[in-house]
Amino acid sequence: MKRKKIAILGSTGSIGVNTLHVLRDMKEEYEVTALTAHSNAALLLEQAQEFRPAFLGLSGENADRETLRENAPRGTRLAFGREALLEACSQADMIVLAVVGIAGLPAFEYCLRNRIAVAFATKEALVCGGRLARDLMDVTGTPVYPIDSELSAIFQCLRGNEMREVRQILLTASGGPFRRASLEEIQSATVEQALKHPNWSMGAKITIDCATMINKGLEVMETRWLFDIPAEKITVVVHPESIVHSMVEFSDHAIMAQLGSPDMKIPIAYALSYPRRLENDVQPLDIFAAGSLHFERPNFEKFPCLGLAYEAIKSDNYLQMVLNSANEVAVEAFLHKQIGFMDIARLIEQAMHHFGSLPIASFSDIYAADGEIRAYCCGLLPKA
Ligand code: NAD
Ligand code: MG
Repeated sequence: MKRKKIAILGSTGSIGVNTLHVLRDMKEEYEVTALTAHSNAALLLEQAQEFRPAFLGLSGENADRETLRENAPRGTRLAFGREALLEACSQADMIVLAVVGIAGLPAFEYCLRNRIAVAFATKEALVCGGRLARDLMDVTGTPVYPIDSELSAIFQCLRGNEMREVRQILLTASGGPFRRASLEEIQSATVEQALKHPNWSMGAKITIDCATMINKGLEVMETRWLFDIPAEKITVVVHPESIVHSMVEFSDHAIMAQLGSPDMKIPIAYALSYPRRLENDVQPLDIFAAGSLHFERPNFEKFPCLGLAYEAIKSDNYLQMVLNSANEVAVEAFLHKQIGFMDIARLIEQAMHHFGSLPIASFSDIYAADGEIRAYCCGLLPKA
């Protein structure tokens, strides 16, 4: 069998590293043909030594290009800057989209237009791509396999079932590190506290998104667009154990759920091996040790970002991208200790009220609007 060429965009991140781990056991199916990183040239080189891709991309403007030029295996093609992501896609039959943020949208658009299959982690790309991305998926029929654990669970529960028989999707959320904290405690939350996720080990941006719970709002949007299901049919359920990865209720009130250890290697492997299931070295879930499972309603007072996400979702238009771009700026500022934890929601709310919904008719409108929203939000940050 001819091996499929796979490119990993964001190979040095949490999803990227887990993907390469999974690919070590899939050498007969996949040839790693391209890897990209934003700034970590050292780890990219280490990965290149092991996987020997024909192409390496370093997208960050301030990344250490010299180190890559001097040390890349001989004969490897190198590219720099944002274009490197598109060039990586052009080399592959399948890409793993694992960069952070709307920065992943051009590559996603490229793959859809060129019918290159996508194993999809970068939720912000679907949140911002919205209706246009959905239409492009429909027109081109490009396969998009979810990596996000909740979406993988939904994808698995839907297998062999009819979309029109779905009554509701029960999207589970761990509740993050502040689930049991008081409003006062959350108001004074530090970066270090917010970075301590109880169940999952992930990149910094998504870990903060879990602490504000905007991650769940982004996932409602991701679910809405990926499965083309109205947002009213998606219900967020707080489930602190992170064992039930999501559920689907059908018209006969039967509910299907997917359970497992909180380990991203499971959904990553499923996205890469679909429709098959492969053996792996993941720590299996011990259902007896798990004991009991809990389910709660989300608290909108403590997590205003989730309420803002619902407001954006209701509008079903590009208010979702305003929320996302503002959040990307706010999280970056919070991680650099420029603003406090609750300022993240304040900044997003201000941006949503300032921009309202946007007149978006093309992908270039999205990229232009993102620039405007970022400039507006940066203007609201305290001067350093
Ligand atoms: P991460 O910060 O660990 O890694 C991000 C990767 O993308 C790195 O390789 C980095 O070099 C690259 N990158 C960063 N900024 C970039 C930019 N502007 N342009 C191009 N490349 C850039 O992040 P992560 O936790 O692996 O998350 C990646 C994506 O997957 C996010 O959208 C996140 O929401 C989603 N996701 C992650 C997890 C998880 O377990 N980590 C789970 C579900 C979904
Ligand atoms: Mg998730």
